[in-house]
Amino acid sequence: MANGLMTVSYIAAAILFILSLGGLSRQDTARRGNFYGALGMGIAILATITGGGVTGYALLLPAIAIGAMVGWALAVRVEMTQMPELVASLHSFVGLAATLVGYASYLDPNAHFTGAEKSIHEVEIFLGIFIGAITFTGSIIAFGKLRGSISGKPLMLPARHWLNLAGILASLYLGGQFLAAEGSSGLLSLVLMTVIALLIGVHLVMGIGGADMPVVVSMLNSYSGWAAAATGFMLSNDLLIVTGALVGSSGAILSYIMCRAMNRSFVSVILGGFGTGGGSTSSSAAASGGEVVSISADETAQLLTDAKEVIIVPGYGMAVAQAQGVISEITRRLRAKGVKVRFAIHPVAGRLPGHMNVLLAEAKVPYDIVLEMDEINADFPDTDAVLVVGANDIVNPSAQEDPGSPIAGMPVLEVWKARTVVVFKRSMATGYAGVENPLFYKENTRMLFGDAKKSVDGILAHIPS
Ligand code: NDP
Repeated sequence: MANGLMTVSYIAAAILFILSLGGLSRQDTARRGNFYGALGMGIAILATITGGGVTGYALLLPAIAIGAMVGWALAVRVEMTQMPELVASLHSFVGLAATLVGYASYLDPNAHFTGAEKSIHEVEIFLGIFIGAITFTGSIIAFGKLRGSISGKPLMLPARHWLNLAGILASLYLGGQFLAAEGSSGLLSLVLMTVIALLIGVHLVMGIGGADMPVVVSMLNSYSGWAAAATGFMLSNDLLIVTGALVGSSGAILSYIMCRAMNRSFVSVILGGFGTGGGSTSSSAAASGGEVVSISADETAQLLTDAKEVIIVPGYGMAVAQAQGVISEITRRLRAKGVKVRFAIHPVAGRLPGHMNVLLAEAKVPYDIVLEMDEINADFPDTDAVLVVGANDIVNPSAQEDPGSPIAGMPVLEVWKARTVVVFKRSMATGYAGVENPLFYKENTRMLFGDAKKSVDGILAHIPS
C-alpha cells in the first residue's frame, strides 16, 4: 500500500475509533459505536499488514487467522457475567505484546539510532516494557480474582507501600543504567526491570480488595492503552499512538467516574486494602436488631398490580439468574395496566460498568424508563414498591448510616425510603463487598427468597397479560 493511502486509512481508522467511543457512551447508540470500532480496527489491520516494511506473510497470516478464531470462539461463548474476566485477560495480551515489542525493538539489528534519537528510543522501550509488564501480571491477577480462583481479599503485606516504592526506585535506577549502556549491553538492566515490573503488577492488584475490582479493571484498561501508545512510539506508528492515547485516557476517565460513584479516591483504590472476598453468610439479625419478613411471588404480584409507582433495581443476581427477559415482560404488563415502572441503575451494579444496561437492552426494556442513580434517587420516597432483583451492596443503607462500615460514603440507591421494598435473593449471604446489609431487616422490607428467575416466573404467572 502506498504511503499516502496508508496515512488516509490510519486517519479514517482514528476517526472511527473516536466515533466508536462517542457511540458507546449511550445505550441507544452503543450498537453503532461497536460497529464503528470493529470497522476502524479492520481498516487499521488491513492498512498495517499491506503497508511497506511488512514481509513475513507466511508467519503473519496464520497468526492473524489463529487470533481471529480464538477471539471469535471467546466472544461467542462468553456469558455476560464473565465479561470483566474476558476484558482483564485481553488487557494481559496488550501488556505482553508491549513487553515483547519492546524487546524486539531493542534487539532489532536494523535499528541504528544515535545521539538524542537513540536516548528517546530507549526511553520509549524502557517505559513500554515497564507499563506492559505491570499490565500483564496485574491483568492476570485481576482475571483470577474476578473468576474467583484467587481470593478477593486484599493481600496486606506488612510494608507493602514501601515494597512498591522500592520497586519503582529500583526500576528508575535500572533505567539510568540502561540509558548509559553501550550497544545491547543494557539488556541485563532491562531484564531485571522487567522482573521487578512483573512483581509490582502482581503485588499491586493482589493488594486490592474485591469491591474495588471494577476500578482495577478500568485502571488496567488505561494502562494497556498507555502501553500500546508507548509501543506506537517505538514502532513510529501514529495510529497505535492515537489509539493507545484514546484507550489510556478513556480508561483513566472511567476509573475516575467509578471512584466518584464509590466515594473513594483513586489513590486509596490503588493503595488497596478495601473489601473482602464476599459471599459470606450473615451471622444474625442481631447487628441490625430487626426481623426478616419473607413474601411469596403471588403476594409480590398483588403488591405490584396495586401500585402506582414501581422502581426495579437490578443487580448482579439478575445477571446470574438471567431474569431480565421475564422482568421485561412483567414491566410491559404492568405498564399496560397503567402502573408507572422505571429502572434504577447504580454505576457499579453487576460486575462491569454498564452491565445492567446491556442486559436490559438485550431484553428490550425501553431506554427511556432506565435511569441512572442520580436521576432517580430522589424519587424513592414517592414510590409504592421497589423490586431489588439480585442487588445487595448498591442498596446497602450502612454506606450512609454506619461511618465504620467498609463501604461508608459509597453512594447507594435509597430504596428503603419507598413504601415497600422486595428483595430477591437466595439466602442471607452478603454481596461482593462482603458487608452485612441492614436493609433486609427494615420494617418495610420483604424478602422473596429463591433464584431470581424462578421468583419472576412466579410473579408473571399472577399478572395476567
Ligand atoms: P452484589 O454482588 O452486592 O449482590 C448480588 C446479590 O445477588 C447477592 O447478595 C446474591 O445473594 C444475589 N444473587 C446471586 N445470584 C442470584 C440468583 N441466581 N438469584 C437471586 N439472587 C442472586 O451485587 P450488586 O450488583 O448489588 O453490587 C455490585 C458489587 O460488585 C459492588 O460491590 C461492586 O463494587 C462490585 N463490582 C462491580 C463491578 C462493576 O463494574 N459493576 C465489577 C466488579 C465488582 P444470594 O447469594 O443470597 O442469592
